[in-house]
Amino acid sequence: MTQIAAASFAEPRLVADDEGVRLLRAAITAEYAGRIAVVSSFGADSAMLLALVAEIDPATPVLFLETGMHFAETLAHRDALVARLGLTDVRDIRPDPVELAANDPDGELHRWIPDDCCAVRKVAPLARALAGFDAWATGRRRQQSRTRAALPFVETEAGRRKFNPLADWSAERILAELARRDLPRHPLVARGYPSIGCAPCTRAVRPGEDPRAGRWAGQAKTECGIHVPVAA
Ligand code: SF4
Repeated sequence: MTQIAAASFAEPRLVADDEGVRLLRAAITAEYAGRIAVVSSFGADSAMLLALVAEIDPATPVLFLETGMHFAETLAHRDALVARLGLTDVRDIRPDPVELAANDPDGELHRWIPDDCCAVRKVAPLARALAGFDAWATGRRRQQSRTRAALPFVETEAGRRKFNPLADWSAERILAELARRDLPRHPLVARGYPSIGCAPCTRAVRPGEDPRAGRWAGQAKTECGIHVPVAA
């Protein structure tokens, strides 16, 4: 994607004694300096992790899985956040065109075999993109779903360290922090989407539903495959 010049703004500092943030800072600046990437969906809560990363080092590589199936609002939110936070190395990670043509020539695979669609549009591209890194960070939180209830701050997956600095953050804390920083929200949040993935596989949630109930609604599928569920 085209890089956008950093906007100038006075950043209210957050990084202090928070355990997850401390681990993220150490990973980016010391333990995995130059060898860690952040993976972001630029979804409902993504601004929080990205703000922390920008505060620590705005040149940290940020990988965005450009599946070709996103809401237009997500792409606009991505561009707005990149500009607002001054992130300088946001990379669009795309499916391999040959694999895509062979497996999903008409763009309808998500209707019939969503696991295969995620495999070609998300899992394989991310695996290729992460090949050059020894660690990565995500914005997943324990509160988001039952499959994430036991999420640790640090995991090891396929021999690579994986940091979840916001694992113990509540939705309320995220909201308060985003408001304090006056960071833009994803436009679909106000329309009932607390969790936002690809457009064909995301619907608004109803009152009382799990925040991720709108993802692959009506199917057994709960994750795209880039994250292995953590046993409670
Ligand atoms: S979320 Fe849906 S459209 Fe996106 S890659 Fe997975 S199955 Fe395909």
